[in-house]
Amino acid sequence: MSPSSQGLPTAACPLDCPDACGVLVERDERGQLARLRGNPAHPWSRGSLCGKTAIFHEVVHAPNRIATPLVRKGGVLVRASWDEALDVIARRVDGLAGEELLALWYGGTMGQVQRPFPLRLMHALGATLIDGTICDSTAEAGFRSVLGHVVGPHLGVELPRADLVVVWGCDVARTHQHLLPRLKEAAQRGVPVFIIDVWRTETIHKVEAWGGHGLVVRPGTDAALALGLAARAFDLRAADLAYLREHCVGGAEWRAHVAGAWPMQRVCDVTGATKEAVSALSDALHAARAPIIKTGIGWTRRRNGGEAMRAVCALAATLGHADRVHFESSDHFALDKTGVSMPELRQNAAQRPATAPISHVRLGHELEARRFRAAFVWAHNPVATVPDAARVRAGLAHEDLFLVVHELMPTETARIADVVLPATAFVEHSDVYTSYGHHTLQVAWKSCTTPAEQRSNVDTFSALGRRLGFTEPGLFDQDEDVLVGEFLARNRARFNDDEYRRAVQGEPVELAPRSFADRGTPSGKVELSGTSDGRQLGPPDHIEDSEAGTGSPAREPYQLLLAPSYATHNSTYLHSSRHVARMGAPTAWLHPDDARVEGLAPGARVRLVNEHGALTLGVDVTEDLPRHTVRIDGFVDVDAVPEAVGASALVAPALSDLGAGSCVYSARVRLEQVENGAH
Ligand code: SF4
Repeated sequence: MSPSSQGLPTAACPLDCPDACGVLVERDERGQLARLRGNPAHPWSRGSLCGKTAIFHEVVHAPNRIATPLVRKGGVLVRASWDEALDVIARRVDGLAGEELLALWYGGTMGQVQRPFPLRLMHALGATLIDGTICDSTAEAGFRSVLGHVVGPHLGVELPRADLVVVWGCDVARTHQHLLPRLKEAAQRGVPVFIIDVWRTETIHKVEAWGGHGLVVRPGTDAALALGLAARAFDLRAADLAYLREHCVGGAEWRAHVAGAWPMQRVCDVTGATKEAVSALSDALHAARAPIIKTGIGWTRRRNGGEAMRAVCALAATLGHADRVHFESSDHFALDKTGVSMPELRQNAAQRPATAPISHVRLGHELEARRFRAAFVWAHNPVATVPDAARVRAGLAHEDLFLVVHELMPTETARIADVVLPATAFVEHSDVYTSYGHHTLQVAWKSCTTPAEQRSNVDTFSALGRRLGFTEPGLFDQDEDVLVGEFLARNRARFNDDEYRRAVQGEPVELAPRSFADRGTPSGKVELSGTSDGRQLGPPDHIEDSEAGTGSPAREPYQLLLAPSYATHNSTYLHSSRHVARMGAPTAWLHPDDARVEGLAPGARVRLVNEHGALTLGVDVTEDLPRHTVRIDGFVDVDAVPEAVGASALVAPALSDLGAGSCVYSARVRLEQVENGAH
């Protein structure tokens, strides 16, 4: 049972969100979740939750929540006992070789114990893993190649001291909402705040209202802006030449690469930004002594995203502020997670040949090769979230593949499974949470009972492990609270005595930033030329974001902007009727001039088409978008579109320039009118 704050158990939001908010749990008379409140003692979230998680109790008690195991019989999923479901799985999986088994998981929960625990069984079975490249691998590869260890400034400490804040490619209002009041505080102190994005987001509107600046660039041209700003810093003698000489590799080459090559007019022509906006940012960067350059992740999911991140890091180094770039990563917690997943079991499984992880981005093609006979899915909804979604769905639904899904709600992936196992919600199990946006760790002990037969990841995959014959003590016979305790004990060195005591009690604990003995690049310096994935890299450059595989501007003239939604979170909450109602009907947002050119009035329906799929949506217009873009907010409710697919069906399984990441934001579409009409 969880300890209390204000008489209530504490927990943390488990979602894939940098805020990782602290919560207080109110329970009903049955011990089940009644309501969540923000925990005022949490140093980052300071007592508030976003609107979508504030109504999480609606998910827990949703009539469509998966209540019991389900087994497919005669083509239909029917209720089954846990014993029956585990027997079915054991029958279908026993005897399969490790390379015939596929493990699919992602960020449905960010818990440090529940999320990786199923890997323990996957390692024991020798299953094939995914490489997890759909989200941040491009951003991280770009950052690491220049700046090394992915550790930026401690935002909670450094933002109040900053004399300039630049948010590069992060729609804070939608994806990092507890950063927003800190931007307001900075602006109200008179600190210049700049938001760089590809459309006039609500974040930009808010920051401008507080006296800050929005700078909109054409999608895929961030590197050009960074190169232009660096060139201007050299031109105006604002570059920190001593820093470049002493702390960087490739400084002279970088200077020769940009100086004179990126005059203001070229920067404006390529990015679409105004001279005034670029000059204002440039002047602010030159004047700053303690800037924060806070980067998001999504903006790098492009063919040229790795180079773009490298260019931003190189710009910071040019100004002597390489260590002032904040990258969203939980690496600064420096926690040893191997005790949970036990990768050593894979080596022990000598009879099962080791298999290399497969590309997450190209999952659809990997499934098409038909080399997998069974797949286990947890904390993931690949049918909705992985590029080339139609191919992914077809592969997972194929009759040759036995699909097991552990889930809370009837997701698009659960609906096509052969066996569905009901999962606990985060207040119904124990776990440890960190964050990729701040430095607060939170242990959340189980505080609520489940409404039906749901089991946690630990309980589910332990039962499965035992059923599959792994009966060695300490493998699949431990209580989850013991695992949480072991996780903390294994990482005891990261806490002082007081922090450890408070962490065990379930209090949010802000940990000191991890310190490194070196920078983490091969040279030990900032590398403006260097290597990534074994490739030699020249100075960061701007490359076109319209290569083969992600669409051609002539055939597909509209850049697709897949924006986050206020009402849902990735595909989480897409199966909760209240959240979906708040999200409204799936909509294609267009600039009014584009709508006019296409003959589309608000209220009309339009089909977004490219070589990977099609999606029919209602039309609305906003002048916040640049011309030749179309925006969709959130992953689409597949039941609300005639094609019964989500927005990922329009995304190519193309690989980015660094880190083999996804190219979600390189997607392009053409528009086909379906019908006209008014709201
Ligand atoms: S989704 Fe993000 S902002 Fe919302 S409660 Fe969870 S951590 Fe906080």
